[in-house]
Amino acid sequence: MTEKTQTQPKTPQPETHAFQAEVREVLRLMIHSLYSNKEIFLRELVSNASDACDKLRFSALKDDSLLGGDPELRIEIETDPEARTLTIRDNGIGMNLAEVTENIGTIARSGTRQFLEQASGEADLDGKLIGQFGVGFYSSFIVADRVTLLTRRAGAPAEEGVRWESEGAGEFTIAPEKREHQGTEVILHLKEGEDEFLQSWTLRRLIGRYSDHIGFPICLRKDAVEGEEQGEWEPANQASALWTLPKTDISDEEYQAFYKHVGHDMDDALAWAHNHVEGAQNYVSLLYLPARAPLDIMLQRDERQGLRLYVKRVFIMDAAEQLLPHYLRFVRGVVDSDDLPLNVSRELLQENDLVRKIRSAVVRRTLDLLGRLADHEQDKFLSFWDEFGPVLKEGVVEDTANREKIAALLRFSSTHDPEAGQRTSLADYIVRMQEGQEHIWFVTAENFKAAKNSPHLEIFRKKGIEVLLLSDRIDEWMMGYFTEFEGHTFRSVAKGEVGFDDTQEEGKEVESSPEQQDLLKRISGVLGEEVAEVRASQRLTDSASCLVMGEHDLALHMRHMLEQAGQQLPDSRPVLEVNLDHPMLARVASAEEGRFNDLAHILYEQAVLAEGGQLDDPAGFVQRLNRIMLDV
Ligand code: ADP
Repeated sequence: MTEKTQTQPKTPQPETHAFQAEVREVLRLMIHSLYSNKEIFLRELVSNASDACDKLRFSALKDDSLLGGDPELRIEIETDPEARTLTIRDNGIGMNLAEVTENIGTIARSGTRQFLEQASGEADLDGKLIGQFGVGFYSSFIVADRVTLLTRRAGAPAEEGVRWESEGAGEFTIAPEKREHQGTEVILHLKEGEDEFLQSWTLRRLIGRYSDHIGFPICLRKDAVEGEEQGEWEPANQASALWTLPKTDISDEEYQAFYKHVGHDMDDALAWAHNHVEGAQNYVSLLYLPARAPLDIMLQRDERQGLRLYVKRVFIMDAAEQLLPHYLRFVRGVVDSDDLPLNVSRELLQENDLVRKIRSAVVRRTLDLLGRLADHEQDKFLSFWDEFGPVLKEGVVEDTANREKIAALLRFSSTHDPEAGQRTSLADYIVRMQEGQEHIWFVTAENFKAAKNSPHLEIFRKKGIEVLLLSDRIDEWMMGYFTEFEGHTFRSVAKGEVGFDDTQEEGKEVESSPEQQDLLKRISGVLGEEVAEVRASQRLTDSASCLVMGEHDLALHMRHMLEQAGQQLPDSRPVLEVNLDHPMLARVASAEEGRFNDLAHILYEQAVLAEGGQLDDPAGFVQRLNRIMLDV
């Protein structure tokens, strides 16, 4: 993935590689946009070092020789005022040559390209995007004009150490180098003017602010006593994993600092739930809701999704998706169990009864947290909804046991106040239902505009019946599984007959005259196979025509999407409903044969277009339209 500009495979000379173009771009953006927040580099490097210690502790469970006789896992931070360097060192898992090449200098995460497409060059926005993206190691270049990384994989011989170096511009060098200690050392050659990071009190302040919760000691040298070359090492953090502390001992700032470490996020979390569970089994869960969705949340390929699993304070694995159902993949945090075996594998997690119980508790806690936000912190809840609403909707389908709970969290756009966005809950809808109204009515469409302007809404608008406007991609699928809420069945305004039995009282003829019957038959004759039937509409007041699907058929836009994706679908043709009161129909009725054909087609075609659908024969449509406009 890196482009080699010069290769000398047999000699231990450093190889020079060019950064992937994308990495270069990210680096450039980052250095500019994060400068005002430059101290975060330390948090990022300490976070990496802590992960490396976690990984080694886990590997050493099976083979303690990996510890290399140095079992006190720790992080050291050291400065050299003369050389103007700041070093962050860990005795964690380390990396071999292949791993350095793979991890440092490439950005494997799927979001990179989208990130770059969204990045605008506007510092503020870039800063936010970078925040979602997680910058990690590269943030060193905010304060350093050269970074040297020395590392050796735990258990590998001294000769297999690696030196990686870059000035952060376009290239890096990489070479094997003998190394006495395993683990990783990152040496920052500070830029002019960044001397504050050489001062011990600055470093202590930053560790206190960002890294206090890290479960390994972060050591700085004590100020040297007279006559000594260098001071002793002493920890600058509490070094007790945050989730193990009682809730009352943890400040919001500490929760947020820890979130940035486990969530790989630069922004604050939106909310969290922290529970110590004691009883049949003992475990701690600390669950966070991010404020913003990662760029790739809908693609479902974020390899970091899921929770971190610890067993008795020992990190076991990242992204333990067995602890979270797919529709809650945005939740970040930690589960630490006292009862699972330390050698638990992914396979074992899947079948384990304890895990199943933890998982259902995690789901309940997450939904309760969301419920609390919805009830007491509306603004937060709605900002959650705007980010993750479509993901949560998957839960309606996936998690039948919690469907009611999830349903209560859903928010929809609605004809009650279409411009308000997705703000109507089902409970709001039910409160506003009319006397005797049985169903919760909704329309699904390709996009919000098409939903809002759907001709199917006309009769509902006239009668003042509220309709939910659904236009997320997942909606049609979700509604297929959603039959009722609190005793009210869901009905699509675009499917089946609307069945208002009071339409006649409103002066609208449902029974059509023989001439009208004849007209419907003629239109149907022209359209042939395109439609299942042509009938007089009860739904329309302003539009001339609309398409109606059978109650159990897919909406047209959905059908079209699936067909494009190559799916074979059972044949189902729509019904064309026409508004016999519309002047267009009088025009059709009186047209001579050629014109009649054109107009009949157009009635059908405008119904397709109004749905946001696509015409099978757009050129034919244009020709018909032109013939009418030119009156030929
Ligand atoms: P992130 O930490 O967000 O994954 P980074 O760019 O900071 O992104 O690091 C990329 C990868 O490099 C890490 O996932 C890890 O595999 C490896 N890495 C970084 N720092 C260290 C370290 N101190 N020890 C071992 N591996 C590391």
